[in-house]
Amino acid sequence: MTSESINAADIPGNAESAGQARRHEQLTFDLDVEICVVGGGLAGLTVALEAARTGANVVVLESRHVGWSASGHHLGTAMPGYALPLSDLIARVGFDDAYELWSLSRAGADYVRAHAAEDVIPGLGFTEGVLEVSNVDAGERLISHLQMLSEDFATEAEGWQIDRVRNALSTDRYFHAVHYPRAFQIDGRKYIHGLAELARKAGARIFEHTPVISIDPSGIRKRIATPRARLRASHVVLAGNVHLGEALRRLSDTLVPVWRYAAVTAPLGARLAEVVRFQGSVIDADGIDHFRIIDGDRLMWASPETTWEARPERQRGAIRRRILTTFPQLETVEIAEVFCGAVGETVHGMPQVGQLQPGLWVASGFGRQGLNTSAMAGQLIARGMLEGDDRWRLFAPFELVWAGGTTGRAAGYAIGTAMRARSAAAGVLARYRERARLNAANRKAKARPPRVAAPHMSASKDSGEI
Ligand SMILES: Cc1cc2nc3c(=O)[nH]c(=O)nc-3n(C[C@H](O)[C@H](O)[C@H](O)COP(=O)(O)OP(=O)(O)OC[C@H]3O[C@@H](n4cnc5c(N)ncnc54)[C@H](O)[C@@H]3O)c2cc1C
Repeated sequence: MTSESINAADIPGNAESAGQARRHEQLTFDLDVEICVVGGGLAGLTVALEAARTGANVVVLESRHVGWSASGHHLGTAMPGYALPLSDLIARVGFDDAYELWSLSRAGADYVRAHAAEDVIPGLGFTEGVLEVSNVDAGERLISHLQMLSEDFATEAEGWQIDRVRNALSTDRYFHAVHYPRAFQIDGRKYIHGLAELARKAGARIFEHTPVISIDPSGIRKRIATPRARLRASHVVLAGNVHLGEALRRLSDTLVPVWRYAAVTAPLGARLAEVVRFQGSVIDADGIDHFRIIDGDRLMWASPETTWEARPERQRGAIRRRILTTFPQLETVEIAEVFCGAVGETVHGMPQVGQLQPGLWVASGFGRQGLNTSAMAGQLIARGMLEGDDRWRLFAPFELVWAGGTTGRAAGYAIGTAMRARSAAAGVLARYRERARLNAANRKAKARPPRVAAPHMSASKDSGEI
């Protein structure tokens, strides 16, 4: 079933709609089902919703509660694409498959857009427009990227020159930008609960505090064990992201867990509108800072990352410093709330989507861009299981690659730190060059002998121009 067939009646009364998390019981009795989804995040719930809409008998087993990790703690920005840059995607799979994969990612964003409609999941505050800003002066690279996006990949995107960017964002840290007018943002922390309600209403059964502790995927009926119940299922979908743990250690070892931290400031008043005049999400092209205005005069800002779990509270100062480094005019910023979630990053930068062996499916590794890609994966897997749609095979070139265990995490952190340092250095250099260019132009202007106005230019002399 497609998203056109959803309507407000799928959502129970307003009291149970988006943002007001319903609690689900723990599974304490044995079950025989068609589909068992492991993980109640964006990926697992989209699979469950799409499968339940076709009438399949589906259960979702969530070890904590719906939206416990990244899926309940993100910034809600939806764009087409993947963590892997488009040019690398083409180099990896060729133009035709890259086009198909890109189109699927765009359809994933469209799926979220359809569900974020006020009459489907209300109260998500949908707005359009995302700005991807460059930390360095990279105008030429931007032009070729734009051409590829709009001419070859049918994606609406426009290039913004430096002046326009700085008109929208009063900081010298950003140069050119790509504006995606059709990309959008929603309240990402509420969306997941709306999705769970839709899945429940469609007939999926969701059990919280029900960790899957082992899976025996051999045989036609797979066996799944939880602390208080056992299940048998024809299909098992592994949507546990980096948290899957012992249930399938081989799979979790193919992801580098990255904890990403974000904060919401206290109201900043009118001074915020003086420095940030762009109303959508701003993402820097190096993937370091990501922010947007919420509630009129607060900033929601994501930036620091670790490859180990730390208390979000410890990142409060780091986020405040990032905000003030970018917008020193704000002078002081009070952080009202800090939160975090773990994203799973793959070695190749593409999500893990597909069938590992008959009846055993995987949907994980969505990284920092999980809203559109998990929506895409959920639909592909539901259709793969129930309708024999095999478009998930487009992801076959991106195999499960061991992420290196503890050493891989340490290396991931070292690489991440080095990339941030490199990006910071490139930004410093770009700003230094810009200042040097301006100084040289000023010196040249001062050194130039005063021009004597030609008789025919006397009119402009009166108006104060040369
Ligand atoms: C601060 C931050 C900001 C972000 N901003 C954006 C953004 O603006 N746009 C965007 O597109 N993406 C964003 N992301 C990324 C996005 O949130 C993730 O990619 C996405 O939520 C991943 O969803 P998931 O379902 O794969 O994983 P998860 O959300 O991790 O869900 C997996 C679930 O599976 C459960 N589970 C695991 N193992 C088991 C088991 N054995 N038994 C039972 N249950 C299990 C876990 O408890 C968990 O609830 C952001 C992430 C963070 C942290």
